Amino acid sequence: MRKAVKFGGSSLACAAQFQKVRSILREDPSRRYIIPSAPGRRDSQDFKVTDLFYRYYDHWVHGREDPDLLGQIGTRYQEIIRGLSLDFDLKGALEEIRQNIQAGAGRDYAASRGEYLNGRLLAQYLGFAFLDPAEAVFFDETGALRPEATDLALKQRLTGCVGTVIPGFYGSLPSGRIKTFSRGGSDITGALVAKAVSADLYENWTDVSGFLLADPRIVENPVAIGTITYQELHELACMGACVLHEDAIFPVKEAGIPIHIKNTNRPQDLGTLIVPSAEPKPSCSITGITGKKGYCALNIRKASQKASDGFDQTVLDILEARDIPCEPLPSGAGTLSLLVPQERYLKQEHSVLSGIHRSVQPDSISLESDLALVAIGGRGNRAKSLIAGNVISALEDANIHIRTINQGMEDLAMVIGVYDRDFESAVRVIYNRFIRQDWAHAPS
Ligand code: ASP
Repeated sequence: MRKAVKFGGSSLACAAQFQKVRSILREDPSRRYIIPSAPGRRDSQDFKVTDLFYRYYDHWVHGREDPDLLGQIGTRYQEIIRGLSLDFDLKGALEEIRQNIQAGAGRDYAASRGEYLNGRLLAQYLGFAFLDPAEAVFFDETGALRPEATDLALKQRLTGCVGTVIPGFYGSLPSGRIKTFSRGGSDITGALVAKAVSADLYENWTDVSGFLLADPRIVENPVAIGTITYQELHELACMGACVLHEDAIFPVKEAGIPIHIKNTNRPQDLGTLIVPSAEPKPSCSITGITGKKGYCALNIRKASQKASDGFDQTVLDILEARDIPCEPLPSGAGTLSLLVPQERYLKQEHSVLSGIHRSVQPDSISLESDLALVAIGGRGNRAKSLIAGNVISALEDANIHIRTINQGMEDLAMVIGVYDRDFESAVRVIYNRFIRQDWAHAPS
């Protein structure tokens, strides 16, 4: 058994968190390839070290170098070094970073040092080897990842290694300069490592006990879902749910490696397992309740339209040309209803309306604004009809007005439209209905 194990910033934010990480690793020797983030926030007032490095660089580039910022970064690492009694020349390391920045190493280089230093400290603390991803994660001249070259290099450097720390978030360009992924990109490094070493499991340790059934800012202490498929997660992520960096899914999905989301602060919780496919179940289970605010519905009416007119396609092309995404809504004969992101639509409203008038000469166009979408994911043969019935009656009981209902999606049981102002209550009402009926699987 081989595991690639990624720890997020809050899991490695201070010496006490490093200690938790070490006991998690000691519990299971198959946790061999460790991918750390930079130290994250210790509380809501705190800063992520990556943000401090970005700020330090931005000040420097504008001719206002701020030694205080480097001091703050130093204090964060000093606490870890002292707390764990490590032997590390922090002063020397920070001075080298400063000099490299002054010599033109770039913004990505500066940002990557959060992971680099944390990786060096973690490797020393664990007694593991250290692999600098600049030597094994490769980008091309345009900044796009080179997946094959990276896979090969990681395989060569890691196969047969017993315990290795590989910092997340960065790699190198053909010129040797450092390049980072987008924010949160250590998830991607973890997935690339998992694939390269043919891991049996990619563990992603964070500060939540898995993929929560609903947003904890809306529902108090939501339960975590036990198992979810890559596809289900993708659909929920498109609708606003967020746990993992989206690009982290592809490498492991391709290799069929499950991802286990776990909580460093509550390792006893089961967490969520993300798997290539789930057992088909005759019953029904909920895989998530999520959604997004800020939509409006555009209703375009033309009584005399025929399917052969290409009416719908013309309208869709007009929106696409203006880069406005849209979702068709169920609508009556002679009317096309589309859901569009309100802010983006309003910025170009005149141009869209004149385009539609010119091209399809509609009888009327109306707009319904301030809508939100609530998406409910469900698995099982009976999921769609059971969920639909329950959602509708729960919202009716709570006097929440349903504006639209859509059941056409693959892995989402349904998406409903409500007014923006009702969004949070709708999520709570739906959550309570399903949890009361015990459809979800609680982690512990
Ligand atoms: N430290 C980086 C960030 O804050 C990358 C990561 O944590 O995954 O975005």
